[in-house]
Amino acid sequence: MASPMWIKVNKSIRLSADSRFFSQRFYTVQREPMKYILVTGGVISGIGKGIIASSVGTILKSCGLRVTAIKIDPYINIDAGTFSPYEHGEVFVLDDGGEVDLDLGNYERFLDINLFRDNNITTGKIYQHVINKERRGDYLGKTVQVVPHITDAIQEWVMNQAKVPVDKDRQEPQICVIELGGTIGDIEGMPFVEAFRQFQFKAKRENFCNIHVSLVPQPTATGEQKTKPTQNSVRALRGLGLSPDLIVCRSTKPIEMAVKQKISMFCHVEPEQVIFIHDVSSTYRVPILLEEQGIIKYLKHRLNLPVDDEKSRHLLKWQRMADRYERLLQTCSIALVGKYTKLSDCYTSVFKALEHSALAINHKLNLMYIDSAELEPSTKAEDPVKFHKAWEKLCKAQGILIPGGFGSRGTEGKIQAITWARERKVPLLGICLGMQLAVIEFARNCLNWKDANSTEFDPNTKNPVVIDMPEHNPGDMGGTMRLGKRKTVFTTSSSLLKQLYDNAESVEERHRHRYEVNPELTQHFEEKGLKFVGHDTEGQRMEIIELEDHPYLVGVQFHPEFSSRPMKPSPAYLGLMLAASGKINGYLQNGCKLSPRDSYSDASEESSSDN
Ligand code: GLN
Repeated sequence: MASPMWIKVNKSIRLSADSRFFSQRFYTVQREPMKYILVTGGVISGIGKGIIASSVGTILKSCGLRVTAIKIDPYINIDAGTFSPYEHGEVFVLDDGGEVDLDLGNYERFLDINLFRDNNITTGKIYQHVINKERRGDYLGKTVQVVPHITDAIQEWVMNQAKVPVDKDRQEPQICVIELGGTIGDIEGMPFVEAFRQFQFKAKRENFCNIHVSLVPQPTATGEQKTKPTQNSVRALRGLGLSPDLIVCRSTKPIEMAVKQKISMFCHVEPEQVIFIHDVSSTYRVPILLEEQGIIKYLKHRLNLPVDDEKSRHLLKWQRMADRYERLLQTCSIALVGKYTKLSDCYTSVFKALEHSALAINHKLNLMYIDSAELEPSTKAEDPVKFHKAWEKLCKAQGILIPGGFGSRGTEGKIQAITWARERKVPLLGICLGMQLAVIEFARNCLNWKDANSTEFDPNTKNPVVIDMPEHNPGDMGGTMRLGKRKTVFTTSSSLLKQLYDNAESVEERHRHRYEVNPELTQHFEEKGLKFVGHDTEGQRMEIIELEDHPYLVGVQFHPEFSSRPMKPSPAYLGLMLAASGKINGYLQNGCKLSPRDSYSDASEESSSDN
C-alpha cells in the first residue's frame, strides 16, 4: 500500500503548503489510507457507468470527503486527442491541456474539481510508460510481461494519481473513484481487471470496493424485467477474481422488489447490495436515487468512512436542482449549428453548459441540432426539403451557438447562420471555430473581402483573416495544438463578457486550436464595429470578439463549456441564454444579478463549490 497508515516524520520535512514545520522530535502522524472505489460495467457499454461513478463521488463529497476520479480507457491510443467525435463523442480538454475522454467532464462537473491528463489512463499510456522503462534498462535481465509489469504499472499509476489534489483547497483526496471503461470480459480490459484483482489485497479490504453497473432489460414480448444478463456478468466478474460489493442495475422503468431478491440470491449478495437506477428526467436525480437506497450507509461501513449515515441533508442542493429542473415552465430555444449533429455526445459539454445556463435563469432548454451543411445552397439543390427544414429551425431559434470544429465541411453553412444572426440581431455565441467563422463572415460581408478565409480551409486565400499559429507544426497531429488553460486579458471595460465575468480583469479558460485571428488585420474589423475585447497576455492573440450594436454577437477563441458547472454556469453561455430570453439588459443593469423572479433562491443562498 502506498499510503501507510502511520508514517514517521521529523522537523525537516515540510508537510503542507501552509509552511508549518514540525518540532525537532519525531511525531507519529496518522494518515488515513486512500479509499478506492472501482466501478466496472457489465452486459453492454453506454448504460451510464460514468454518471453512476460521478454520482457516487458526489454523494461522498457531499458527506464532506475529498474525492478524486480516474477514468481508464482500455484502448491503445495515448489520449483522445486524435479521436473522431463520431466514434467517441467529444474530446474533453483539461486545464493542463490533456485531451481526454468525455467522462472526465462528468467528474469535473459533478464533483466541481479540476482533473489532470494523468487522471485518464489508457492502454497506450501504460504500455508507453513500461516500454520507456524497458529501454532505459529498468528491467535489465528480465522478460517484461503483462503480469507483473503492466499490472504493476497500472497499480502504481492509480496510487500516485489518487493522491494528487484536485480541489481548490489543494489537499490530498481521501476517496478515489476509478471507472474502468468497456464491459467485463472485453479482451482490452483484462490487464486492468487483473491489476485490480491484485490491488484489492494490496489496498486491503477496508480500503477497496467494487461497484458493478449492470443492465436489467425488459423485453416487450413478456414485459418482464430480466436478471439473467446481470447474473452472467457478475459471474464473469467473479471468474476474474473481483466480487461486487454493490450491483447497480440500470433499467428503463423502476424495478420491482422481487427482482432485487432474485439478483441478491443469484448473484450471492445481500439485498441491500443491489441498487436500482431507472431512467430519470435528469442526471441530477441519480445521486438522490443512490442515496435513497442506502449507499452512504453501506459505503460507510464497508470502507470505514468517517461520515454520518443519517438520512442526509447532504444532497439537498441536488434534490432542489432536480425538482426545479422538472418544474420549468418557460422555454428558451437555441440552435446548435454544427457538423456532428447525428450524435449528441459530440457536443456534450456545450449541451451541458447551455443547460446549466438555462437552469440558472429558470428556463427549459430547447436545443435544436442543425447540420450546418444543410443550410448550404448545395443542399437546396440536392434536397430542398432538408434545406428548408434546417432553415426553419434556424429561424425559430431565439439564440444560435456555433461550436468548435475542424475541417472545411459545413463551414459555409455556419457562415450563413452567422450572417442571419448578425443581420437579424439574433443572439449568437461562436466557440473557437465559431469565433473564427464570425470573423470570416464579417470580413466577407462587412469589409467586402469576398474571398476572406482561414488558411485551414484555403491556404491560398488573398485575405487570410484566420491563420496558422506560429507554433503549429503541420507534420504531426497528436498534441500539436495550443491546449489547456490560458489567460485572456480584457482590453476594455465596455466589454459585455467582462461584465458577465464579474468585471474581472482577466479570465482563464481552456483552449484547443491550431489557427488564430490574423493579428495584422484587426484594425480593419475594429473600425467597422467588430471589437477584439480580449487578448492573450502578450496582446498578440485575439481571444474574444464582440459586435457593436448587436444584443449579443460574441465569439471566444477558448472553450468556456469545459469549465461550466451545474451551479456555476459559464458566463459566456449564460450571456447567450440571457440575450436569447430577452433578459440580458436587465441582468447587466442589475449589477449582473438575476431578478428574484428569474433566479432560483437556493442556488444563490448556497455556495456552489461544495456540492
Ligand atoms: N480548427 C480550428 C483551429 O484549429 C478551430 C478549432 C476548434 O474549434 N477547437 O484553430
